[in-house]
Amino acid sequence: MNGTVFLVGAGPGAPDLLTLRAARLLAQADIVFHDALVHPETLALAAPAIKIAVGKRSGKFSTAQRFINKQLIDAAGKYQTVVRLKGGDPMLFGRAQEEIDALINAGVPVEIVPGISAAFAASADLQCSLTRRALARSVVFATPREAAGSKHNDWAKAAAAADTAVLYMAAGEAQRVSDALIVSGVPPARPAVIVENASGTQRKIVPTTVGDLPAAAQHVGAGPALVMVGDVYADVDALNLNTDDLAALARISLR
Ligand code: SAH
Repeated sequence: MNGTVFLVGAGPGAPDLLTLRAARLLAQADIVFHDALVHPETLALAAPAIKIAVGKRSGKFSTAQRFINKQLIDAAGKYQTVVRLKGGDPMLFGRAQEEIDALINAGVPVEIVPGISAAFAASADLQCSLTRRALARSVVFATPREAAGSKHNDWAKAAAAADTAVLYMAAGEAQRVSDALIVSGVPPARPAVIVENASGTQRKIVPTTVGDLPAAAQHVGAGPALVMVGDVYADVDALNLNTDDLAALARISLR
């Protein structure tokens, strides 16, 4: 048997934010290796397939990347359609390259199916474009998270230079992120927003500034969250956007 491994983007959380190609592959899959955050309804699309959680969440149980690579290679020896389902888009902060390289080195055919990255889902929730005529024409995706053995990388400088910066894996380190951005020349008053659980029913939007990021981070929970920075976020109206607040308002008007 010489199966193909498909690295498939599962999207940001909402199960219907999935490509048709991803849905078709899930329906055909013999085996699915998935991240911890993938929605159960998305996995249900692969009803007959064997499902193996290989989720990596910071501070929680993590399956070593090398072991995941080996599992994918072994599965391709046994099954026709192997799906590796990753949150958001596989090609952004998803360690896709390690899997692609391992598969290619092992002679296993590999294909990638894009997904909606968290930055796009959060922008949709915010109803706020990453770019804006006359205000923002550059966007940086960056992370303060450093992998073991990574070469020095000045993510904060890149974020400071961009009109809009989207920081992945950053909300849990709000103090360090805020300090690093300010050291890199970002005015503390530059608008920022934290978006937790973008596209999800439990989404939470906390508008703030770069200087106040640590205080704002106290208001987000344990869900995945993005820190977004830029003048485009000057007028984010959280009251009208937070689903919790909308539910509260609906309750009030029912009384
Ligand atoms: N490949 C993924 C990113 C993986 S890194 C993508 O394209 O979206 C994991 C980080 O993504 C989390 O720490 C968080 O910063 C962000 N993230 C993932 N899903 C999210 C969501 N629904 N809402 C907000 N941030 C999210």
